[in-house]
Amino acid sequence: MTSTVPAIVILGQGSLATARRIQQRYPEALIHGLAGRVEGSDRPYTEFGATLRELYQQDTPIIALCAAGIVIRSLAPLLLEKGAEPPVLVVAEDGSAVVPLLGGLGGVNVMAREIAAALQVAPAITTSGELRFGTCLLNPPSGYRLGDLEQGKRFVSDLLAGEPVRIEGAAPWLDQAQLPQDAQARLAIRIDSAAGVPAANELRIYPRSVVVAVSAGATDVLASIEQALAQAGLAMQSVACLLTADSDMVRSELQQAASVLGVPLRFVTANGSVAQWLGDAIGHRASPRVSGDVAIAVAAQPLDPQRIGRPRGRLAVIGLGPGAAELMVPAVRAELDRATDVLGYETYVRMAGPFRADQIQHCTDNREEMQRARHAFELAAQGRSVVVVSSGDPGVFAMAAAVLEALHDSSDPAWHQVDLEILPGVSASLATAAQAGAPLGHDFCVMSLSDNLKPWSIIEKRLDLAAEADLALAFYNPISRSRPWQLGRALEIVAQHRTPGTPVVLGRDIGRPGQTLRVTTLGQLTPDQVDMRTMVLVGSSTTCVFPRAKGGDWVYTPRWYGDKPL
Ligand code: SAH
Repeated sequence: MTSTVPAIVILGQGSLATARRIQQRYPEALIHGLAGRVEGSDRPYTEFGATLRELYQQDTPIIALCAAGIVIRSLAPLLLEKGAEPPVLVVAEDGSAVVPLLGGLGGVNVMAREIAAALQVAPAITTSGELRFGTCLLNPPSGYRLGDLEQGKRFVSDLLAGEPVRIEGAAPWLDQAQLPQDAQARLAIRIDSAAGVPAANELRIYPRSVVVAVSAGATDVLASIEQALAQAGLAMQSVACLLTADSDMVRSELQQAASVLGVPLRFVTANGSVAQWLGDAIGHRASPRVSGDVAIAVAAQPLDPQRIGRPRGRLAVIGLGPGAAELMVPAVRAELDRATDVLGYETYVRMAGPFRADQIQHCTDNREEMQRARHAFELAAQGRSVVVVSSGDPGVFAMAAAVLEALHDSSDPAWHQVDLEILPGVSASLATAAQAGAPLGHDFCVMSLSDNLKPWSIIEKRLDLAAEADLALAFYNPISRSRPWQLGRALEIVAQHRTPGTPVVLGRDIGRPGQTLRVTTLGQLTPDQVDMRTMVLVGSSTTCVFPRAKGGDWVYTPRWYGDKPL
C-alpha cells in the first residue's frame, strides 16, 4: 500500500519543536518519538532501526530528525532488495539542514523543497537534473506515467550534456522547468497516449487518461483488453483504471489483469451496455469505443481513478495484542494506517490510535458485538476500508467470530464480496505466559469464565473435565461486577483435581501502563486478587517454579509428561 502521508521520526526531546514545524506543512503526518526520551509525540516507538525499516517497507515517506549516518545504517540492509523506495530525508534537529537521501523517483526532492521552505533554509539537493532543470523529468506528477526508466536516464544524461529539447503534447508541470527548449531539437519529450515503440531520441510520458471497461462475465480478459487497446492505437501505459461490474468483484482474472496493467480495479453497478456504464462513470462526451466485451474511453485530461466507480471494500478484523506497540504485528499496523473507518470498543480504538483526521472512528459499547459486525459490513460494502479492532487476538473471545457470524447470516451479495481478512494478535494468555516464563509449555486449555453467552453449567462441566485431564488452564474474563461468585466456584472445582501448591500466574494489564505480574498458588488464590483486567493461568501437576536472579520467579510446564526423559 503506498501512503503519501509522511512519518516524522525523532530520537530526542530537542527535535520536537522542529518536528512540529514540519508537521504544520504535512498536517496528517504523525510524529514518532522514542519512548522514554520523547514526551508528547503522537506515536511512541521503542526501537529506532526497526521502526524506520518497517515504515520504509510500507512505502511510507520518512522524515528523520537525526544524523544522516544513523538513517543510512538503519536502512542499509533493505537497500539492495528490490521493492518500495519511498522518499527518505534527514533534517537537522534545529531545522538548519534538509537532506534528501533516497527516493529520487518518489519525489524526495520535491519534499526537500517543501520542508526547506517551511523551515526557511535551502535544501541540500544533489541530483544534477533536478538542480539544472528544477524538476525531476523521470518523476512526472500523478496522472502521468513515465515510459521507460533506463531510456529516461540516458535521455536526461544527453540533456545534461547540453542538448536542447522540444516538448510535444501537453505537459503543464514543465512550464516552470528551466529546460533548454528549441523547436528544432533532436531530443523530444512526448506526452500522449498513442501506442508504439518510442524512438531513441524520445522521452515518452503517458497521460493516464484511458478507462477500460470489461463487461460482466467476460472471459480471456487480459487478451481482450490488449487487443482492444491495440485496435484503438492506445498504449497500455495510458490506462488509468479498469472498470467492471460489481457482480464480478471477486473474480481473480480481473484482479490479475489490473495488476498486469498496474492500475486499480474499480466497480460500478452495471446497468445497460458496457459502453453506457462507461459513459456514466466518466461522462458521456467520452464516446467509448467497443470491441467485444471491452469498451475504451479516452478523456481529454488525466483521470483520477479514485473518482471513477468505487473500489472493492475491505474489512479487516485485527488484534492489537495486549497493548504495547511492539507486540502488535506489523500487518496490523499497516492495516490501521490504510483504514478509512475504525470500529470497536472505545478503549481499544483509542489504544489503536492516534488516527489521521480523514479516518473515521466509530466507537461503541463493548456489548454490541453483532451490531458492530453488521455496521462494519455495511461500510465495507460501500467500498470503504474498514478495521474492526479487538484487543489481543481477534479470534479469542473477540470480534472475529461475530463478524463471520454476521456474514454467515447475511444473504446480501455485497457483503460476501467484501475483501475480508482476519489478522492475528498476541493473546493475553500468551503475553502473560511469556512474562512468567512458559506456564503453557505443555498441553493447555483456554476458557472464558463469563456466563453471559453460555450457561454456567457448561462452564462447570468443562472446568471439571479440563482439570481432571491435568491441562494447564488459562482463564479469560475471570470475574466482573455482575459475575462476582463464579471465579470462587471455578477455583473450588479445580481444587478437587489439583494440589494447593499448584502454581498460579496472575497477569494484570500486561503490556499496558502499570502492568503487574504475580506468581502465587492455588491454595493462596482468592477471587479478590483478580479483576476483569486480569489473566489467570493455573498450572498442571508438572508446572514448576524457581527463583530468577533479578528477583521474582520463573514458572514453566515442561515439554514432557510422565517420566522425565534422559
Ligand atoms: N481477545 C482478547 C481477549 C478478550 S476477553 C485476547 O486475545 O487477549 C477479555 C479478557 O482478556 C479480560 O477479562 C482479561 O481476562 C484478558 N485480558 C485482555 N487483555 C489483557 C491484558 N493486557 N492483561 C491481562 N489480561 C488481559
